[in-house]
Parts: sequence; C-alpha cells; structure tokens
Amino acid sequence: MVFHVVILVIKGKNYPLNKRTELSNLKTKLGQRFGGTCYFCGCQWSKKGMTIHHIYYLKKDITYDQFPKGIKGSLEYYTKLTPLIKANPKRFRYLCNNCHQAFERFMRFGDIKLNKMLKERKYTIKTRQRYLKKQKL
Ligand SMILES: [Zn+2]
Repeated sequence: MVFHVVILVIKGKNYPLNKRTELSNLKTKLGQRFGGTCYFCGCQWSKKGMTIHHIYYLKKDITYDQFPKGIKGSLEYYTKLTPLIKANPKRFRYLCNNCHQAFERFMRFGDIKLNKMLKERKYTIKTRQRYLKKQKL
C-alpha cells in the first residue's frame, strides 16, 4: 500500500501535489533538458532554488514579472514557459539562483567597470598569494 502511494506521488497525476512540490518537480524536469546542473557552478540543487535564464527575449515573451509573486505565480510562469523552452532550448540556461543573481548583476556592469573589476580580481588573487607566502616564511 505504501509502495503504491509513493509511485503515484512521483508520477504526480492521480494525487494533487501541493503547489510547492509541483513547482519543484516542474523546474527539475525543465532542468533535465539542460543536464540538470547549473550552467555556471554545476550544482544540481541550491538552497535558493534553480531557475531558467533567458539568454534573449522575444517580442511577446513570457517573463517572470508578468506573474504574481509566490508559488502559484511561479508555477503559472514555469508552466507557460515550458513550451517555449521545448521549442527553442538554446534561448535559455538552467542556473541556480545564486549564479543567476550574480550574472544578472554582472550583465548590468558597463565594459569599463567590468574590465576594471576583472583586473582587480587578478591583482587581489596575486597579492593575497604573495601575502600568504610571506606569512609562511
Ligand atoms: Zn550556480
């Protein structure tokens, strides 16, 4: 009997799942089209969740902000996005929300600021390594 219930819950058809589980299952299913891992960091799961990133938008696209906030709105969003992903998966990336947030911020930087930050990153890494070596002597 218990076995029977588990099978039906996994299929998600005969028993209504709560919206949160339904959303999680839908996103996981969508993620499987992209190898099931975040494009940037490779994680399969994140505390902050996983998402689908639009690489580019169409004129009448489905976007997250068109739906009410919360589980119900998100479920509606991903449900309506599903056929668009199936039609053209190259327009999307599967990302964890940490990487998505970082990347969207990164995208808003101008080239000058971005290049300066990349240079500073290299400089900081090099400087920290030198400092560490000095400490070990
Ligand atoms: Zn990630």
